[in-house]
Amino acid sequence: MEPITDTPQAPSDTDPAASGEPSAPVNPKADADVVRAFSRDPEKRREAEQPQAAPAAVPRIVVVGGGAGGLELATRLGNTLGKKGRAEVTLIDARLTHLWKPLLHEVAAGTLDSHDDDIQFLAQARHHRFTFRLGAMEGLDRKRKVVQLARITDASGAVLSERREVPYDTLVIAVGSVSNDFGVPGVQEHCHFLDTREQADRFQKTLLNSYLKTQHREARQTDGITVAIVGGGATGVELAAELHHVARRLVAYGFDRIDPDRDVRLVLVEAAPRLLPAAPERISRLAERELTRLGVVVQTGVQVSRVSAHGLETGDVCIPADLLVWAAGIRAPAFTQRLDLETNRAGQLVVKDTLQTTHDPDIYALGDCAACPFPATGRNVPPTAQAAHQQAALLVRNLSARVAGGADRDAAFRYRDHGFMVSLSGYTAVGNLMGNLMRMSGAVMIEGWLARFTYRLLYRKHQMALFGPARTALMVLSDWISRRGRARLKLH
Ligand SMILES: Cc1cc2nc3c(=O)[nH]c(=O)nc-3n(C[C@H](O)[C@H](O)[C@H](O)COP(=O)(O)OP(=O)(O)OC[C@H]3O[C@@H](n4cnc5c(N)ncnc54)[C@H](O)[C@@H]3O)c2cc1C
Repeated sequence: MEPITDTPQAPSDTDPAASGEPSAPVNPKADADVVRAFSRDPEKRREAEQPQAAPAAVPRIVVVGGGAGGLELATRLGNTLGKKGRAEVTLIDARLTHLWKPLLHEVAAGTLDSHDDDIQFLAQARHHRFTFRLGAMEGLDRKRKVVQLARITDASGAVLSERREVPYDTLVIAVGSVSNDFGVPGVQEHCHFLDTREQADRFQKTLLNSYLKTQHREARQTDGITVAIVGGGATGVELAAELHHVARRLVAYGFDRIDPDRDVRLVLVEAAPRLLPAAPERISRLAERELTRLGVVVQTGVQVSRVSAHGLETGDVCIPADLLVWAAGIRAPAFTQRLDLETNRAGQLVVKDTLQTTHDPDIYALGDCAACPFPATGRNVPPTAQAAHQQAALLVRNLSARVAGGADRDAAFRYRDHGFMVSLSGYTAVGNLMGNLMRMSGAVMIEGWLARFTYRLLYRKHQMALFGPARTALMVLSDWISRRGRARLKLH
């Protein structure tokens, strides 16, 4: 587990749930039974001799991963089952805070301070009646029904918590994904990734330092900054546009010795014949047209075979670059392959249409780490925040029905494709809205302000699931006010 830098509240040794030990719950009914058995009243003694039905234990639902899907699920289960005491809902995450992952390219570019939009898990848990445990899942004992968590250390290596186990009755794995380097040599050593907030922050600092160096270069030096992004999916396209936007904004903040057109070069490399291979062709064309118009060098059909400190090697051609970003595809975190559950080539947990894993009906998976069938395309549900949001909503219903004991079988997940949308920074957004959202047949192409508005709507839906409509409306208003008076860029 990556060391954490913000010291968590160390779980107390005496807290059985924190230590992962099965707890010994206080049971008032058992106490009453003892009183009856020793009573002088023969009626009460007879009552005590009758065989008693075992007290119904409160089911323990454990969600691992508080991302786009997992945090929504834990919050909504806490608001319902947790609040009524009908289930013990626990969320485990490797970090103390949540930041909605589709914002990471803005954090990387410096157009969003990663602390502005983060949510503290401990506070969210307190307000929504679930328990939060800090820890990175590293294993699973299905026979004993326990999740195994890695030891936690701080930035200096000091141990904050030893390895622990957390018991469950129902487990939901929602640990997201990491970038897939497809075994290309040099990627891990030389590329930046945008899988976590820490990685996005690191890229932002390196980028800012490159700008500072360029600003303070000797007059005769002509070097500028070249950023090469590998992967022309939504992440790569959005990052390229965001970086273009930042280069122009920095000039306004005093980087007056940088000419963005001459000194900053952005290269976007995609192995498929077109950008956004998962999107309809028209959206790809629009995105490529916009990026090219901005001056981004788009290279499609180009396979990167090796990465070095100096740039990308593609067959016999070299693309020199100072900063390299790898955003060429995803896979599930490596530990998922050690769980004795079925996985596919990308390490994703194979699930049935009910989101239950194929080997164990008490273990569910959702979001990027799950391979869920999507019959409409014959492929799997795409790894998007939109899909994770819909899957969390289904599991709220299915797990509630499970706890109530009403449903024989979990309802199946039906993915509703509401369209594909990419944001090209402050310039525009392009995408389509699918017929089922607009109550029209087919898809409607949109771009410009309407597309940008629709793009932001997805984030607002996430906030609504976490905070409800009233608080989300207040947050929109307060964001709008506070962003007026602040620098539009992170400049440190
Ligand atoms: C830059 C960027 C832009 C994107 N733009 C869009 C977009 O416009 N629209 C869209 O729909 N999707 C977009 N996506 C994809 C979207 O972010 C993901 O599909 C979505 O976040 C997946 O949700 P999730 O709940 O599966 O996982 P995540 O949101 O990734 O959350 C996973 C959680 O699990 C935790 N975790 C990981 N490993 C462990 C472990 N071992 N133990 C405990 N906890 C663990 C992590 O800390 C994290 O909190 C974008 C992604 C990126 C990177």
